[in-house]
Amino acid sequence: MSHPRSARGVLLRLKFNLVLLAIFVLSLAGAGVYYYRFLEQGAFGDVRHDSQVMMETALAIRSYTTDQIKPHLDPLNADRFLPQTVPAFAAVETLRRLSGRYPGFEYREAALDPTNPRDRATTWEAGLIEQLATAQAKAPRDEVELSGVHGTGVARAMYVARPITISDPSCLSCHGDPALAPPSMQKVYGRNGGYGWQMGQTIGMQIVKVPMLYPLEKARSTFYSFMLSLVAVFGLMFLGLNLALSAMVIEPMARLNRRLEELATTDFLTDLVNRRRFFERLAAEMADARVHGTSLSVVMFDLDFFKRINDTFGHDSGDRVLKHTAVRIRELLRSSDCAARFGGEEFMILLRETPIDAAMALAEAVRAKIADAPFEVVGTVSASFGVAEWNHDEDAHALINRADRALYQAKDRGRNRVVRASDAPVQRVLVPMEGSEGI
Ligand code: GH3
Ligand code: MG
Ligand code: MG
Repeated sequence: MSHPRSARGVLLRLKFNLVLLAIFVLSLAGAGVYYYRFLEQGAFGDVRHDSQVMMETALAIRSYTTDQIKPHLDPLNADRFLPQTVPAFAAVETLRRLSGRYPGFEYREAALDPTNPRDRATTWEAGLIEQLATAQAKAPRDEVELSGVHGTGVARAMYVARPITISDPSCLSCHGDPALAPPSMQKVYGRNGGYGWQMGQTIGMQIVKVPMLYPLEKARSTFYSFMLSLVAVFGLMFLGLNLALSAMVIEPMARLNRRLEELATTDFLTDLVNRRRFFERLAAEMADARVHGTSLSVVMFDLDFFKRINDTFGHDSGDRVLKHTAVRIRELLRSSDCAARFGGEEFMILLRETPIDAAMALAEAVRAKIADAPFEVVGTVSASFGVAEWNHDEDAHALINRADRALYQAKDRGRNRVVRASDAPVQRVLVPMEGSEGI
């Protein structure tokens, strides 16, 4: 009987947990998407900041070289060309030392037609220079800059590129007409590249690359630990809410249900089962007896002259007799039997796996138990009994009717006795015979 109740508890818990899980999955997905974007943007921001700092550093080195180094060393250039006086060379060389400590950080000055061959642009760089040249031509006064992500895997890097556009006429002293360029420079680099530049021409670009792998990895691991902590928090919440659900809802509800069922199926005066539960038990036992082919009997009895007891000793004394009758019956029953208060001073006993003879003997024992010992205050009380065995064909009401008729025979015959019910009428199936004239 506890199955439907615990099934209700399980169903409630299942529904509750499904709702909880749905909320969790939705909020985890929402928080995950939002937080991942946030971290990724942060990582991109950091990389962009680093690349800007590097670009500014390159520009600072360039201007320092132009302002502070070149004027001092230029006189020496006549005999022997010193590349240290070239701003681009100074910036590249300085920042190359930096990439020793920060692998993947790169600064380059790439040109389409460089003096120094190591500055020759790759195909990708050449494309970028073309874009920068176009942008700079459109807005000659603006500081043009292009940035983006290039490469994959470990080599994935953010780049920032700015055009190198000839705006200072002094540049052309080395890169204009080769005839006018310093001979010492030509001695080092030859006359093949880096000449014929024009004022306003974009001849190359400065490009900074900052690796993205590390900051993105960091963002990812921060993301994973955040999500893991969310899952852990949810797990604890899940556990806590389930315990709370058990303690505050399911258990009290089950207790309440048990109590309600008890109240609905028990007779409050005698504590025996009531008529309703008796019929439920009878139906279950009949089904069981039918499956297993076992016998099943009922004993019905009614206290004799009970109205007189009430009238003589009062209703409360009558109640006490009913209560003690129940106690006496119980002492004679097996745990598999079921005694019910059928109504008023009428009782019913259901005996499983019991043929009529054994049921008669039990009824006789109950009769003696009631009649042989006086009850408190009221003295001797007797009861009359009707006993019937189920014939596997009749329904519950037919069985009880037979027991009831036997009980009234017991009353008629002088009370304080047990009467065996007549056998149920055999249900005959009438098959009309051929040629017969009917019945
Ligand atoms: P009989 O031997 O023919 O059964 O006579 P009887 O007096 O027992 O039968 P009757 O049906 O005339 O009276 C039954 C009485 O039982 C009437 C009713 O007041 C009393 N009764 C029914 N239920 C209760 C109850 O819960 N408590 C008490 N004290 N009396 C009850
Ligand atoms: Mg009676
Ligand atoms: Mg009665």
